[in-house]
Amino acid sequence: MRIGMLNFNQYLTQPLRVVVAVSTLLLATACSTSPTGRNQMILVSDGQMNEMGKASFAQMKSDNPPSIDKAFNDYVMCLSTPLLKAAGENPSEWEVKVFDDDSPNAFALPGKKIGVHTGMISLAETPDQLAAVIGHEIGHVQAKHGAERVSMGMATQTAQQVSAVALNGVEYGDYALAAIGVGAQYGLILPYSRTHETEADYIGLLIMAKAGFNPDQAVALWQKMKQSSGGNAPPEFLSTHPAHGTRIRDLGNKQAEARELYQKAIAQGVVVDCIKPEF
Ligand SMILES: [Zn+2]
Repeated sequence: MRIGMLNFNQYLTQPLRVVVAVSTLLLATACSTSPTGRNQMILVSDGQMNEMGKASFAQMKSDNPPSIDKAFNDYVMCLSTPLLKAAGENPSEWEVKVFDDDSPNAFALPGKKIGVHTGMISLAETPDQLAAVIGHEIGHVQAKHGAERVSMGMATQTAQQVSAVALNGVEYGDYALAAIGVGAQYGLILPYSRTHETEADYIGLLIMAKAGFNPDQAVALWQKMKQSSGGNAPPEFLSTHPAHGTRIRDLGNKQAEARELYQKAIAQGVVVDCIKPEF
C-alpha cells in the first residue's frame, strides 16, 4: 500500500500532496481495535462518520419514505430494543426504520441508523431470525466498518476522492457514500469485505443470544436465504455477503459461545415476546 501511495503521489498537485502526506502519516498512527480484537486503520473521526451517516439516512428517507405500517414498526421496535440494550446501547439514540421493499435486505449506517426492508421481515420466519439480521447490522455499526472502508478509500483511491472525503465535511464523494453503506440507491455498490461480514455475524450472534433470542436461528436464517436465492441472481443482501456455506460454517464455530449466553439469559428470566405481522 505504501509503495502504491508513493507512486501516485508524483502525479498530485501540491495541496493534494499535503492531504496524502497527512493521510500517510495517519496511516502509521490511526490504528484502533474492533470489538472482536481485530486491528483497524481508522483515519476519520466518529463525528465525521456520524454526520455522514445521518445526512445519508435523511436523504434516503426523503427519497423513499419509511413504512408507517404500525404492525411492521412495532415488530421491528420490539426486536431492536432488547438487541440494542444487550449490545450496551441506548435504544433511544438509534433510529430503526422499515422500508417498503420486497428485496430481503437490511442495512446500517454510522450515526446509529438501521433500515430493514419489508422483504426481509417477510423472509425471516421467526422473530429470532429477524433478530439475527438486526444484530448483524448493529455489529457493523459498533465495529465501525463504515469508517474503516472510508479510511481504506482515503489510503488507496484517487486524489479527487481523497479530497472529497478528507477535506469536505458536508459534501461527501460518491465513494464515501458507497463506503458507509449507501450504495444501491446511488448506483454504486461497494461490498463489505468478508472480514467485515464475518465480524458482524459474530457480534450479532452474541448480541442476539444475550438478548434472549435463540442463536441457532441465525444459521436457520442464512439457510433460508440460501434456499430463497435459488439459481437466480441473489438478493442484494446476499450478493454483498459471504458465500452461504462459509457463513453457515463460520457461525457454527461460534455457536457454543452464543448458546452459553443464550442459556444464561433464559435462566435469568429474559423473555422476548414479539409477534411477526401477517403478510
Ligand atoms: Zn452485513
